[in-house]
Amino acid sequence: MRKPYIAANWKMNKTIEETEEFINSFLPLVNDVSDVDISIAAPFTSLGAASRLLKSSNVILAAQNIFYEEKGAYTGEISPGMLKSAGCSSVIIGHSERRQYFSETDDIVNRKIKIARKSGLDVILCIGESLEEREADKTFEVLDMQLAGSLKDMPLDGMTIAYEPIWAIGTGKTATKEQANEAHTYIREWLMKYKEGADAVRIQYGGSVTPDNIESLMSQPEVDGALVGGASLKPDSFAKLVLSARIK
Ligand code: PEP
Repeated sequence: MRKPYIAANWKMNKTIEETEEFINSFLPLVNDVSDVDISIAAPFTSLGAASRLLKSSNVILAAQNIFYEEKGAYTGEISPGMLKSAGCSSVIIGHSERRQYFSETDDIVNRKIKIARKSGLDVILCIGESLEEREADKTFEVLDMQLAGSLKDMPLDGMTIAYEPIWAIGTGKTATKEQANEAHTYIREWLMKYKEGADAVRIQYGGSVTPDNIESLMSQPEVDGALVGGASLKPDSFAKLVLSARIK
């Protein structure tokens, strides 16, 4: 049995003050939770403040993006060393919004994963199909391509996979538990076929997860947790999600 893992992706939300307010309310709600891994991917500007408040807590600090070089003339980019010194131990890579708005390809995602892992950062790798791809029956083909490209020459240690069908992100339209489990099973089989240690990798579902649907999604054998956008922005809602994911 894999330990459940619930991760918040705040996207471009929360100032430093709002981050502090959230963490001060959230930590007391989850401070006795040791059977679920919890992380918060805060915006870059909030990482310092979040790191100070999360120190010696049971909540992991993550970033939402990283650049694939250690340093240099890359205006506006953030290196793995910077993330580590800001207190991060994990990073989300390949989110569909980065693929869509910033033209991130599987090759770029692969370079980012390589440098993140080399620097000792854990990675949440996001993959998932668009509505058109699902309707054209291309879901597995897309997952194949994204897994092969993103994980090229990479072992699986330190990796979590987030299956996030693009049509379910921020739309209020969740995949059914059967659809989620089917895609997760496909991902697990792919990992088993091509990589060592696939059984230990956690596969999160992401896409309009709320306190109302988490239990049903987590009842599926291949759903090991969730990557949560909108419902992670309020302390009580995110805490409810975490508590619902506890091992019964
Ligand atoms: C996400 O941003 O990864 C996400 C799943 O968002 P939401 O929960 O808002 O659909």
